[in-house]
Amino acid sequence: PKKRIAVVFGGRSSEHAISCVTAGSVLQAIDRTKYDVVPIGIATDGRWVLESGDPETLQILGPDKLPEVDGARASVMLARESGTTDLVVHEPSQPPTTLGEVDVVFPLLHGPWGEDGTIQGMLEMAGVRYVGAGVLASAVSMDKAYMKVVLAAAGLPVMTSVTVTAREWYRDPDRVTHRVSDLGYPLFVKPARGGSSIGISKVHHAGELADAIEEAHRHDPKALVEVAAEGAREIECGVLQALDGSPETSLPAEIRITGDHEFYDFAAKYLPEEHTELDVPAHLADDVAAELRDLAARAFEAVGCEGLARVDFFVFPGGGIVVNEINTMPGFTPLSMFPRMWAASGLDYPALVDRLIELALRRDTGLR
Ligand code: ATP
Ligand code: MG
Ligand code: MG
Ligand code: MG
Repeated sequence: PKKRIAVVFGGRSSEHAISCVTAGSVLQAIDRTKYDVVPIGIATDGRWVLESGDPETLQILGPDKLPEVDGARASVMLARESGTTDLVVHEPSQPPTTLGEVDVVFPLLHGPWGEDGTIQGMLEMAGVRYVGAGVLASAVSMDKAYMKVVLAAAGLPVMTSVTVTAREWYRDPDRVTHRVSDLGYPLFVKPARGGSSIGISKVHHAGELADAIEEAHRHDPKALVEVAAEGAREIECGVLQALDGSPETSLPAEIRITGDHEFYDFAAKYLPEEHTELDVPAHLADDVAAELRDLAARAFEAVGCEGLARVDFFVFPGGGIVVNEINTMPGFTPLSMFPRMWAASGLDYPALVDRLIELALRRDTGLR
């Protein structure tokens, strides 16, 4: 029989819409001769709902139209019954119906409650195989403060930063400002657990610090104040596990910001025509590209990632390379960096999706 893949998307984070767009592409790419697909949306209020699975409606992304999971549909849950884990559908005033077993869950979720180990933990408990990083690697990669601790302990270079919690800030902003002043300016302030550049600001002088910290705290009570990588090039590298588990790396790619955007912000990422140029692959000396790929694989292993990750770097003109961050569920539309880097490396979008499902099918659930 065909294996059953539940594609889970949307979610409670600020990256809900991006996840919907990603799901639209993945739903189109999954090989239906091999797999049956069950699309499950998570509404912004956290409800799980059975989706119609029309990929088209998920992919409309414009300045004033973002796709969203419709929370009014029948709700879905995972129930472990008599040795298997079944999907169960609840419709108002109807008895629950079972959709049967799922072989793999593809959690196409970005940000908190999805890319951070929470859904991964739920799936581990239910004994369901899933795509991508496990609980610890997801949680570590989502929290930029812990990500740096783990990477630095493995000898990988990271940007210097200071963590500022909302509690510390409200208790004594002057003390925080003083603590941060050692870093010098400009700085970047970001939510510790976020994505898509949401809540990130560049701070040019002390006068802009308070607004930036408060903006980051709107998204996460834990913020990072980080030294700016001035003049550095932004290069990303995809990591994908081979079926034997070893991390393979893509050709690196470069993001060049054009126009009046100061950095790779939300608009530059998703409304890219006027704001960004992507060099896929990046124009790099062979030894620099090799070093980036080596660092990407080492970062993947240091955190204990599985399946896939995109490692973001700063490359300084003088030669230094610093890891900016790891994303365990990077943007995954055909126009996103991760699939494009793999396409440039010889692996097309459907092959990428297939590899991830194959890897998930090999996962050990620990249930016998
Ligand atoms: P993603 O969508 O890749 O998950 P994110 O929200 O996790 O992004 P970062 O990758 O940390 O956030 O930062 C977003 C962008 O902000 C970077 O791509 C870069 O353009 C800019 N940026 C962040 N930190 C720095 C820094 N220390 N120096 C220079 N630019 C930075
Ligand atoms: Mg990120
Ligand atoms: Mg991200
Ligand atoms: Mg990034």
